[in-house]
Order: sequence, then C-alpha cells, then structure tokens
Amino acid sequence: MQTQTRPLISESDLARRVRELAGQLADDYRDLNPLIVGVLKGCFVFLADLVREMAIPLQIDFVRLASYRDSTYPTGAPRMLLELETPVAGRHVLIVDDIVDTGHSLDLLRRRILQAGPASVRICALLDKPSRRGAEIAIDYVGFTIPDEFVVGYGIDFAEQHRHLREIRVLEPQADQR
Ligand code: 5GP
Ligand code: MG
Repeated sequence: MQTQTRPLISESDLARRVRELAGQLADDYRDLNPLIVGVLKGCFVFLADLVREMAIPLQIDFVRLASYRDSTYPTGAPRMLLELETPVAGRHVLIVDDIVDTGHSLDLLRRRILQAGPASVRICALLDKPSRRGAEIAIDYVGFTIPDEFVVGYGIDFAEQHRHLREIRVLEPQADQR
C-alpha cells in the first residue's frame, strides 16, 4: 500500500524522553515490584525500550484491545481481545499504551483491572492527543502531547504497516482514506 508520511518525533527525541520517563517510573515504583501491563500491539517498541531503562524489579504482561480496524477512525466500542494472565489483586499495576486518543479503550481496561482489586493502577502513554478526549481519564505519565493527527511508527501502525519505523511520523491526510 502506498502512503505518504512526514516526520514528527525523531529517534533521538524518543530515546531521550523514554529514558526520562523510565527514570521517573523507577523512582516511583522502586520496591513495589510493579506489574507492567502493555496494550498490544502498539506498545511493543515503547514498552521494550521503557522497561530496559527502568532497572528495578518488575513483571510484564499484555492485553489486547480492539478499537480501530484498518481505519483512522474508531469502529464503535472497544473490546478486549486478550485478557491478562497475571493475577492483579494487591499489585501495583502500570498500564503502558502507545496513544491515548478518545480514552475509551484505556477507560475500559482501567475499570476491568480495578475490579480485580489491585493496590494501585496508573497509566503511562507515549503519546497523548487530548483534543479528542471523550472519557474522563487521568494519564499519569505522558511521553509527548501531540496534535490531532494520525501517527505511525515506533510500534504504531496503519493497516499493520509502519510499526518498524524508528521515529514517529504523521500519515498525510490525502493518503489515509478519510
Ligand atoms: P482511544 O480509545 O483512546 O480513542 O484509542 C486509543 C488507541 O487508538 C491507541 O492506543 C491506538 O491504538 C489507536 N490510535 C489512536 N490514535 C492513533 C493514531 O494517530 N495512529 C494510530 N495508528 N493509532 C491511533
Ligand atoms: Mg493502543
């Protein structure tokens, strides 16, 4: 598929900010053995870089949510496609996601985790697009706040393309099938 993209956040800016976030998280979660819950698939590059910079004891599990289907617009209510394997009762849970847009998918996940009796639940998102927020949801750790544009790269896809790019790029509007 032919699509046009332009750069938004460089590889070096990503690396610098991820190191900063990891340092802050390591301070906040030292001695708490947090359970890091990655939201597949978009988190996979960010999470891998983040946890390798944290240097504290932690555990990792994944969930999968569906809210977009090969489209730059959400297709109805989010669903859980893959559930957590790790028991979360009494655990300090840190949800790691790629982008918060309307916030509906993270709102669903946070509620589901809260029902299982964790010690705490916080959210870390690489990118925040606050202009389209629909759900009341606090993002505790944000990498970058970005405008309402459709981004790809650093784990984030359009129709499963572009996940391997080392930087965050914007999909040009004429090519994104709006
Ligand atoms: P929300 O429920 O917050 O609207 O949906 C957030 C999810 O939608 C993100 O985790 C991501 O998977 C997807 N999403 C939101 N904005 C973008 C974007 O600009 N590009 C891509 N590829 N996915 C996005
Ligand atoms: Mg996501």
